[in-house]
Amino acid sequence: MIKKETTEMIGKKYDRLTALELVSAKSLGKSGTSLYVKCACDCGKEIYATTTAVRTRNTKSCGCLRKDVLIKRNTDSITHGCSKERIYNIWRGMIGRCKNNKNIVFKYYGQKGIKVHNSWLDFLSFKKWALKNGYNDKLTIDRKDYNGNYTPSNCRWITQAEQTRNTRSNRLITIDGETKCLADWATESGINYITILSRLNRGMNPKDAVSVRRLKRAFCVKVFCVEKNKTFETISVAAKELGLHKEAISACINGRAKSSGGLHFEKVIT
Ligand SMILES: [Zn+2]
Repeated sequence: MIKKETTEMIGKKYDRLTALELVSAKSLGKSGTSLYVKCACDCGKEIYATTTAVRTRNTKSCGCLRKDVLIKRNTDSITHGCSKERIYNIWRGMIGRCKNNKNIVFKYYGQKGIKVHNSWLDFLSFKKWALKNGYNDKLTIDRKDYNGNYTPSNCRWITQAEQTRNTRSNRLITIDGETKCLADWATESGINYITILSRLNRGMNPKDAVSVRRLKRAFCVKVFCVEKNKTFETISVAAKELGLHKEAISACINGRAKSSGGLHFEKVIT
């Protein structure tokens, strides 16, 4: 005999669950005499739970509610009280880069397939790892393999300077068979990192880009422009007068380019 309050469950909503039909334990292959109810969860899943569990609201969802509560606890700055912590901002940054396609650097992370380890989706679990693995307020998180994921085995805490050496934007540059990262070339040559970077972006060859003296000498060369039938005292003067880049004219007279802006240049031997 099924109690009236049980039969009346059908069609009713219990938190995220809507009761669909009553099912015996036996028909579910379970032992015991409990009566089960098939429920549709708001998230779309269907589950079976005992009528008692559903009616007393011990079971409120297919399990998705718990997950959502966990996520809320992590993203809700008020409830876990860690929002002002530096480590929390690091965690949020990591999640944002990998999971939020509105994040400006998402294209370098999430879009490239870089993922955050499942256990780290939980802030407190990430924090626990961080504190156990040498975190302090002067360090930043670094992936040992920068094509790899944010996982406990691929991550470590390093200084900002070390980080700069490792970042993806830090190009490797080979000059005369020697390969170093841009930051190291900058330190060695005494030329500003940004200066070198912008020179390279303008198309200057790496050797010139990391060597100021060489560059100055190169631009002090007297050049002859074939089409204009004119000699210029220096590359700089020619560049200014003709509206071209010094580096481009330099490339012409050094044989790295045929012409610049449709003009041909020759070095004037004095
Ligand atoms: Zn659900």
